[in-house]
Amino acid sequence: MPEQNPDTWSLIIDLDDTVVDLRSPWVEWIERHFGIFLEGENLTNYWIEKCVPPEIGEKVYGFLNQKGLYARLNPLKGAVEALQHLNELGYDIMIATAYVRDPDSAADKIRWMKQWLPFIDRNNPFLCHRKERILADCFIDDSPEKLIKYRGAWSFLRQEPIIMTIDWPYNRTPEVDASIDYRALDYDDTVTAWKGMVQFIKQRLPMDCVRERREARGSH
Ligand SMILES: [Mg+2]
Repeated sequence: MPEQNPDTWSLIIDLDDTVVDLRSPWVEWIERHFGIFLEGENLTNYWIEKCVPPEIGEKVYGFLNQKGLYARLNPLKGAVEALQHLNELGYDIMIATAYVRDPDSAADKIRWMKQWLPFIDRNNPFLCHRKERILADCFIDDSPEKLIKYRGAWSFLRQEPIIMTIDWPYNRTPEVDASIDYRALDYDDTVTAWKGMVQFIKQRLPMDCVRERREARGSH
């Protein structure tokens, strides 16, 4: 468990499809290679191989296996500006991201963060799959499994972390709704989604008198 600084709030933020625009170039790649166009609303399963006919299935992972993929990926609109703003306000921003199949993708992701999120402390990225092991005041992710696991991991705390997601068709489930505090609308307008999340963070975890508020909450 990382040490908590009593004078700030810590945020654990996912990279892929929360900050990095991974899914829209992936959908374009699938269309180019297999002639199938997935509308946003067709993305009803987090595992994209389940959104295409079974004969294509795992072949969609050819996209993720491309060398140097992250160098060509852009941020979701509004994400970098939102993180920059939160950083300027003094929030402790940690990025937690799983590296994908090729281990080189871990280095790719670090390079991506250096390029697009240079204001984030170099000690702050976590490259891991089991994000629910990292306690923070706020957790943002798009994966149904990770949102549910994070809620479950810390639900014994008197003051539970705030959990948020950008709304995607694949995370619209009753289990996710029961696990999150805020659903940001939506994947098709991430500028508005990120503005909503920033507003919610500022409202629920205000940066004035953090130490006093933390003690009053009796939180970790
Ligand atoms: Mg993600």
